[in-house]
Amino acid sequence: MDYVNAPGRNHLFVPGPVNIPDQVIRAMSRNNEDYRSPAIPALTKTLLEDVKKIFKTTTGTPFLIPTTGTGAWESALTNTLSPGDRIVSFVIGQFSLLWIDQQQRLKFNVDVVESEWGRGADLDVLESKLASDSAHTIKAICIVHNETATGVTNNLAKVRQILDAYQHPALLLVDGVSSICALDFRMDEWGVDVAITGSQKALSLPTGIGFVVASPKAIEASKSAKSLRVFFDWSDYLKFYKMGTYWPYTPSIQLLYGLRAALDLIFEEGLENIIERHARLGKATRLAVEAWGLKNCTQEEEWFSDTVTAVVVPPYIDGAEIVRRGWKRYNLSLGLGLNKVAGKVFRIGHLGNLNELQLLGCLAGVEMILKDVGYPVKLGSGVAAASAYLQNNIPLIPSRI
Ligand code: PLP
Repeated sequence: MDYVNAPGRNHLFVPGPVNIPDQVIRAMSRNNEDYRSPAIPALTKTLLEDVKKIFKTTTGTPFLIPTTGTGAWESALTNTLSPGDRIVSFVIGQFSLLWIDQQQRLKFNVDVVESEWGRGADLDVLESKLASDSAHTIKAICIVHNETATGVTNNLAKVRQILDAYQHPALLLVDGVSSICALDFRMDEWGVDVAITGSQKALSLPTGIGFVVASPKAIEASKSAKSLRVFFDWSDYLKFYKMGTYWPYTPSIQLLYGLRAALDLIFEEGLENIIERHARLGKATRLAVEAWGLKNCTQEEEWFSDTVTAVVVPPYIDGAEIVRRGWKRYNLSLGLGLNKVAGKVFRIGHLGNLNELQLLGCLAGVEMILKDVGYPVKLGSGVAAASAYLQNNIPLIPSRI
């Protein structure tokens, strides 16, 4: 596959999989090991403890499952719910749509709450559903924290507030695939019952670990949930946790060492600094989009995402052509528009192991592509807007102070 080679680094700006730090790549370059030796359980113990910090939970139980975000979804659902259970789920873009498809195929009874793509979950509808559910027929609320297809971040604190206002016992299941470890996410404070993410997103690892963290209430629910589950059954993990050996089946040794290195880097930078870095990357991107005279797919500021920006292109331009050009001419990988917004947007992913100067390279590339496809952009306009903001706001690198 020589034809994919290009000089320099690929500018990887899809919203996952993201750039892997060199330290993590090096940590994974190792032989296999006997996972039943004392070394792997000892390593696993530190990983489980540290993953809880990323999710901001002290009471949650983490499961590191060899899977992707989609498997983590399935794990969250099948361990806590029974076929026929009523759940409320919000479709705001392609990933929330896919999760709902999975929920329906698993035979849950889904109240689908739709929003226009580019808007957040309609929490007024949630409120009215809870208000009229004094019999507590709703067993779970499923919500994607950050919809990667449109760059919309939902307000989870508000969801918790609404549940509490009605003293409703529904479980709160959250997809944090493109938020956790990049956006402000507080599992315990927001009363999230199951939170999930995938290793290839903000944790900046290869794909292959589905992170599923269950609250005590979710663990309790798993004892009576009747959904068929085998590979994803939490009880298999819990049995091995009790024995102190941790793994019901073979883990990827390399990914575990990679995760250790990734967590070390995260703690060295500091989770709060990481969240602030993403806020800067998001803001700088939005300033560039504005300077180009283009629109953000996200309709209101309250939903702006600091991990991905979906940029709306004029009707005479095909968003997919922008992505093709980026790859073919500039060694820049941008995200395609998906489903309803296919061709209408292109996406800039700004999450994970990424710094501000890398982003400026991407923005410069986007400007040239826009010119290539006939959009009258002033070269440098977005970069100028973004760098003017960044120059005033980038702090010293935490580990170099
Ligand atoms: N949820 C969100 C918000 C996503 O962005 C994705 C993938 O991009 C998924 C779920 C599915 O994850 P995976 O592709 O790892 O199965």
